[in-house]
Amino acid sequence: MSELRKDPITGRWIIFIEERRHRRRHLPHQYQESPEEQVCPFCEGKEHLTPPEIFAFRRNNSKPNTTGWNVRVVPDISPILNVEKEFKSKGIGIYDTMDGLGAHEIVVESNIHNDNYDSMSIDQIKDIFRAYNQRITDLSKDVRLKYILINKNFRSGMGTHMPFHHPHSHLVAYPFIPHIPETECEGAKVFWNYHNRCIYCDIIAQELNEPNERVIYSNEEFVLIAPFSSRYPYEMWIIPVKHSYIFSGNDSQFESLAVTFKEFINRMNAVLSNPPYNFIIHSSPLSEEFREYYHWHIEIRPRISQVIGFEWGTGTYTNAVLPELAAKEMREVDVKSIDVY
Ligand SMILES: [Zn+2]
Ligand SMILES: [Zn+2]
Ligand SMILES: [Zn+2]
Repeated sequence: MSELRKDPITGRWIIFIEERRHRRRHLPHQYQESPEEQVCPFCEGKEHLTPPEIFAFRRNNSKPNTTGWNVRVVPDISPILNVEKEFKSKGIGIYDTMDGLGAHEIVVESNIHNDNYDSMSIDQIKDIFRAYNQRITDLSKDVRLKYILINKNFRSGMGTHMPFHHPHSHLVAYPFIPHIPETECEGAKVFWNYHNRCIYCDIIAQELNEPNERVIYSNEEFVLIAPFSSRYPYEMWIIPVKHSYIFSGNDSQFESLAVTFKEFINRMNAVLSNPPYNFIIHSSPLSEEFREYYHWHIEIRPRISQVIGFEWGTGTYTNAVLPELAAKEMREVDVKSIDVY
């Protein structure tokens, strides 16, 4: 059970998870402490080691919680937020608290233990995005939920002591709009009120214009850029070219996204020698009010630098690599072209 507390000064919500106090933070670590410690719970054939699945793409009408899947979604066994709860908030003097209502799911991205985006087919990556879309669509029916974040940590923060690297990502649904997406929404709204246009659409239009110096790759549906005010070295964003506020798409759009994603992975791995990285998907909050001025996107952070005290203390980042230079390297590096068909 978790408890949410709001910082009365900045308005930020903090999630306290008491039961994790004596545990390590991440699901695979918890399994490391279980009797089956050397067994990977995400491998095909080990479905009984996870809680019952929420959703899966299955082959040949195979039954839930058996083999025969290629993407599988299960609850996190130690969720930071929990869906089966009543929504309760209370004030204690000047302080606000809420029960930890929400959802925390693991998207097992492949049935192959050591699979990776660079070894996966376009179809497999497309299915991961289709699974995200399916879960976002389903969870957004719960009116108590306000925001959904997809988050991937690849060899990042967990160190090399992880017993296995089965590819997976996290989906967390929040009963509030977290601080960073809220700040983006506010900025996009101010721009919309002034210009009557979406700021992200304007960014894409400007970046795709000559001289294109921050564009790494683009196709009809997506653009991969090093953003003008990158906080981190080699930070990248993937943005849909057509205005779209919530993470969604049809088959061909998810295929284009998978191709763009493969471009980012191949180019980043070539330039930075397979670095650890994070990516998050910033989709609109679940309310319709953001549909005109918010524009979903993926933010990617190669973990080649550390956040230092100044940044922690001020939110002002120092970055040793100009995005124009990062984009040039990423664009010009020699990678084999992606075979879609
Ligand atoms: Zn595995
Ligand atoms: Zn837009
Ligand atoms: Zn964002």
